[in-house]
Amino acid sequence: MEKINNIYCIEGINADSNSYLIGNILVDTGIGLKPNNLLNKLNEINVKPTDIDLIINTHNHFDHVGGNYLFPNAKIAIGVNDSEAILNNNDNLTLSKLFFNKLKRTDVDIKLYENDKIHDIFLKISMDNKNNDSKQNNSKFLKNKENNKENNKEKIDDFYVLETPGHTSGGICLYDGETLISGDTVFTNGGFGRVDLGGNYSDMENSLKKLNELNVEYILPGHGSWANNGKQHIKMALNSFLTNL
Ligand SMILES: [Zn+2]
Repeated sequence: MEKINNIYCIEGINADSNSYLIGNILVDTGIGLKPNNLLNKLNEINVKPTDIDLIINTHNHFDHVGGNYLFPNAKIAIGVNDSEAILNNNDNLTLSKLFFNKLKRTDVDIKLYENDKIHDIFLKISMDNKNNDSKQNNSKFLKNKENNKENNKEKIDDFYVLETPGHTSGGICLYDGETLISGDTVFTNGGFGRVDLGGNYSDMENSLKKLNELNVEYILPGHGSWANNGKQHIKMALNSFLTNL
């Protein structure tokens, strides 16, 4: 499995989103109806579903959040403006209707805002688990945390939230100064997300312009291939968007 800067990149099969593993944090979980690809890939690197402590969803679409139910110990974090659709199990906004299905998991633990630091969120859920869990679970969790502490710190320290509405109203990207996990806002080779599935054109224009200002070496999108020279891919997407207006 390809690893970019300590991030395991898991390619989604068919309509499944890609998933990215940073420490015990999983970004997006695919549709969840045929989860073997994701679970097998995690198993290859000895990660069990119960090991995932935090899921960050880049947006509220079914092909990114449908698999959240597979990870029973994970807290769920999603952009504040996409959280209601999940909490209300809104078929239209989550697109679950298109998949002739319903979300199996509709809780949201953490609503994400611009500039939220992933490391702070991770510390917060570690504290919550410490306070809330039974003694048995608690010690297991802490043991796990102790083993992974250094790794996780290194991997997640710099990632923070960028609000990038346009594909949905609460879509986010994660950025650490070098790597952009871009959800369905921007793809490689000049692609960008559809704006007719809960987003809008002017938000997308602003988000693409915002991303175009960043120095991005690695772009890790919600679908399709990931790539280096991320800045070039974003520039192509912005140009393509503006040309097609
Ligand atoms: Zn989407």
